[in-house]
Amino acid sequence: HKECTQGNMNTPNLNLGHPCFSTKGHGNTGRIHLAVAPGCNISCNYCVRKFDCANESRPGVTSKVQTVEEALQTVMKAKSSSIGSKLTVVGIAGPGEPLANSATFETLRGVKRNFPEMILCLSSNGLLLPEKMDELVDIGVSHVTVTLNTLDEQVGAKIYSYVRWEGKTLIGPDAARVLINNQLEGIELASKAGMTVKVNTVLIPNINDQLLYSLGLEIKKRGAHIHNIMPLIPQGKLAHIKAPTKELLTNSRSNIGGILPQMQHCQQCRADAIGLV
Ligand code: SF4
Ligand code: SF4
Repeated sequence: HKECTQGNMNTPNLNLGHPCFSTKGHGNTGRIHLAVAPGCNISCNYCVRKFDCANESRPGVTSKVQTVEEALQTVMKAKSSSIGSKLTVVGIAGPGEPLANSATFETLRGVKRNFPEMILCLSSNGLLLPEKMDELVDIGVSHVTVTLNTLDEQVGAKIYSYVRWEGKTLIGPDAARVLINNQLEGIELASKAGMTVKVNTVLIPNINDQLLYSLGLEIKKRGAHIHNIMPLIPQGKLAHIKAPTKELLTNSRSNIGGILPQMQHCQQCRADAIGLV
């Protein structure tokens, strides 16, 4: 159990078979992203809705939304391609919020039925994670990514314009409070259910860069396994903010790298990406 600069190695149960959940192990396995989830239930100020969910994907690209049938065809084709045997993961990451779209669940069930050996992965803003947990467990989802940017509802009010919750549109700290509580509860439930849990945090200079240590401690307490601090790509309502410098990003990662392993290689891939990572 020794620390290294690539993120520490104190999490022996990391599933290295999944390219996105290892601090460095990529190149040999890959994933198929299925863009079946266009709708979203919150509004992140760094999001431009006509593009993919910025929580997991590279902003500025738009994935073509597929039907469930098209998505299953995509898996079939990818699996029979030359790199098919290396594609071990099917992920749903957008272009909106996977859990807010029923096609996500139909697609995951279809993949499980037809390709039972594939690892099922999902990224989420976390709002519906507690509510949908039983269904995800039933389907056999084993890897979940939650984008959690702050634990502070005042900071959250600067990051999220609104949260749609139980038929209402919440704004300000009220919106952030519901979202943050659900994110933390969802992380805890997923971890207790035996899933491998990654947390993405978008580093937004002068907004959420001060409180990351306590965020790291809390997500670890809730059972997260790996953390990915991602640089803000300034756009949408946060277009006026400067992207974090390399130095701020490196410092933030190394400041809290002793809490959970930090990912170093995230490429912010798009919601319909297929290939080795
Ligand atoms: Fe955009 Fe994703 Fe945030 Fe929804 S969760 S507003 S799609 S960045
Ligand atoms: Fe990797 Fe995220 Fe896609 Fe899962 S959803 S395969 S973690 S990029």
